Amino acid sequence: MTATLPDAGVRPVWITDAKVASWLRWVHTSASGGSETATALAPYDALPTVPVPMSTVADVQAAASAARAARPAWAELPYRARAEVMLRFHDLLLERQDEVMDLIQWEMGKARFHAWQEVLQVANLTRHYARHGQAYLETRRVRSVIPLVTSAKEVRVPKGVVGFISPWNYPFYLGVGDVVPALLAGNTALGKTDPQTPLTLLWARALLAEAGLPEHVWEVVAGDGPTLGRALIDEVDYLCFTGSTATGRVVAQQAAGRLIGASLELGGKNPLIVRADARLDVAARGTVEAAFANTGQMCIHIERVIVHEDVYDAFVAALLTATRTRRLGQSFDFGHDIGSLASQAQLDKVSAHVDDAVAKGATVLAGGRARPDLGPYVYEPTVLAGVTDEMDLCLGETFGPVVALYRVRDDEEAIAVANRGRQGLSASIFSKDIGGAERLAARIRAGSVNINDGASLAAGSIEAGMGGMGESGLGRRHGSEGIKRFTESQTVVSSRVGPVGPPPRVSVERFVAIGNGQLRLLRRLGVR
Ligand code: NAD
Repeated sequence: MTATLPDAGVRPVWITDAKVASWLRWVHTSASGGSETATALAPYDALPTVPVPMSTVADVQAAASAARAARPAWAELPYRARAEVMLRFHDLLLERQDEVMDLIQWEMGKARFHAWQEVLQVANLTRHYARHGQAYLETRRVRSVIPLVTSAKEVRVPKGVVGFISPWNYPFYLGVGDVVPALLAGNTALGKTDPQTPLTLLWARALLAEAGLPEHVWEVVAGDGPTLGRALIDEVDYLCFTGSTATGRVVAQQAAGRLIGASLELGGKNPLIVRADARLDVAARGTVEAAFANTGQMCIHIERVIVHEDVYDAFVAALLTATRTRRLGQSFDFGHDIGSLASQAQLDKVSAHVDDAVAKGATVLAGGRARPDLGPYVYEPTVLAGVTDEMDLCLGETFGPVVALYRVRDDEEAIAVANRGRQGLSASIFSKDIGGAERLAARIRAGSVNINDGASLAAGSIEAGMGGMGESGLGRRHGSEGIKRFTESQTVVSSRVGPVGPPPRVSVERFVAIGNGQLRLLRRLGVR
């Protein structure tokens, strides 16, 4: 499947027109056939991939109605039956992982290892929620107001139709990883493809169909954010959004206007602290992994490296050596460690950030330039020193393979630098003293803190929640919260003696006296 390229262009040969048609059939477009299409450019050669039919606002409404109509039958299935579909999807994914890795690479340009990490995340999440999701949603029996004759329980009910909007940088993991728990919880879904990476998501939809997911349980529309995304939010009962902080603010306001809940997974400007006692070779390796993973187009990747002055020079030397070992380039195999940026827009943004920093006095220690000889959007992994407040990349997310170094006197200053800005997605600390690092972690504003790892340890620990503090978001994916957010808690209380209140032959005064007597008894018994 891999590494077989045709002479012209870089479309992997197995992606035939018939295959493409079988994925495009999952885009909800009107029967009358909307004539508009959009075609992304492949990062390998900036040539068009395939035209994808665009959904209209009416299509979004029709897709939402179809998902709503499909909901009762899907929700009434026992959890086990929904889990069986997901486990079949899991097994098919393991067998067919090369297909989706090819698609991710073709549409988005990342190195194959980072495409495989998407497969790993989706497989782990699917298996985990299929096996353990029901326990997270278990009915909770609680004490009722009148013991013995009444009983109370809290049950979890699905939200309804959940909307999904996610970006191009992890088109498979972010496109599917949240949909799986939402469907398992008994919801149906309405998702929008990102214009850069529609085929990856549609491939996933087709694979779930093969695994037995009924026709309208996951509806997919294709189109831009401001029009189609907006229309989608108008239709759904809950929104699961992943994207930039700027767009997060817009969609949150729209969701608030409709009084629907939303989880928002947004941007970061993530710090990594190297303490004086850190193993510098390990810290350098961790920094390179976390800074340049996914070509730096990863929400949790590291953009700021904060180093204790005692080890600054030695660490920088180790970091530059480790950076030089990274193999930069593009291929449909594991031959490169860092791939291309996804688009001209990404290349422009990364170049602008670096150029602005250099013009204002930053020093380039590694990289700092595009590599058109390796691909139209390839940019070298870049290490900068001397970054100051007036530079755009100081606190603004670059979302590319660029890190800035900061020299600090002690832990106090490291924490102060780490907590600058208003975002708080992920952070990292390298130190031999894990207890000390954990105490520092408690003082960092970040939804995840990795100790002696750059970024992926927390993301891979899928039983724990993942998300942002401050302007990096609201809510958590993964773990119990990652499925509970797609449900409402409903309190169900039943009485064996009819309505609570003074019975017919008991006066209100007598009833209150009995109530007070019980309260005093509980106090005397020490029951709180
Ligand atoms: P973006 O916010 O521009 O777009 C994200 C998605 O939102 C796209 O599918 C887009 O079509 C859609 N969209 C845009 N405007 C919209 C609107 N008005 N209404 C509804 N939908 C709209 O983000 P991007 O630049 O494409 O993606 C990169 C950003 O995503 C980075 O900031 C990155 O940090 C963030 N991100 C966060 C996480 C996380 O888990 N916290 C994960 C991945 C990426």
